[in-house]
Amino acid sequence: MLLAELRQQVLETARKLMVDQLVHGSQGNVSAIDRERGLIAITPSASDYTTMTADDITVIDQHEQIIEGRWRPSIETPLHTLFYQRRPDVGAVIHCHAPYASGFAAALRPIPLVLSEGAACIGHEVPVAPFLPSGTAEFAQVVLETIGQGSAAVLGQHGIVACGVDPRRAYSTIVAVEDNARATIFARLLGVEAPPIPDKVAQSLHQWWLDRYRRTAADA
Ligand SMILES: [Zn+2]
Repeated sequence: MLLAELRQQVLETARKLMVDQLVHGSQGNVSAIDRERGLIAITPSASDYTTMTADDITVIDQHEQIIEGRWRPSIETPLHTLFYQRRPDVGAVIHCHAPYASGFAAALRPIPLVLSEGAACIGHEVPVAPFLPSGTAEFAQVVLETIGQGSAAVLGQHGIVACGVDPRRAYSTIVAVEDNARATIFARLLGVEAPPIPDKVAQSLHQWWLDRYRRTAADA
């Protein structure tokens, strides 16, 4: 089986999305790239994560052609391949419908960084891309323009997307986005607009987080 380890990581990440209630049913999608081979492992379209095995993860090339696998890749494949084309630093991409972050998506509002751990993980306010029909090249283009060199974006009237060097890091960013969205909403319930962590502080926390990750990865 091609990319056996990467397929397993993609599967485990997709299952975590469901267990953590960041998606329902077959929603959302996860991918990771093997840069040396130029191949991408991606969740299949409309498949249930509870019964999925690593064998069900589809392997495609960077032109969206199926290399190995019996299922069509996710409808959001153009978004994933554009990430890998534009961002050589990215090794994994996750899209999901995290409930609190989806409130910001519905309201077309960016998610502020109001918690230090999330700020360290994300490094910037989470910008919002305008609504466009998903699965299209135009949608992918607008999302990449919105996220720039950042690690996450809100997808207007849809959900969120995050990227990272590997599925574990991208997943941490998804969780951080949801934590910040929830904390912002809860603070509003208390009648308070949570003050955002200043950009410079968020950037330095993020740099510390990246350095710590690199050290951990080097020790592994
Ligand atoms: Zn979606």
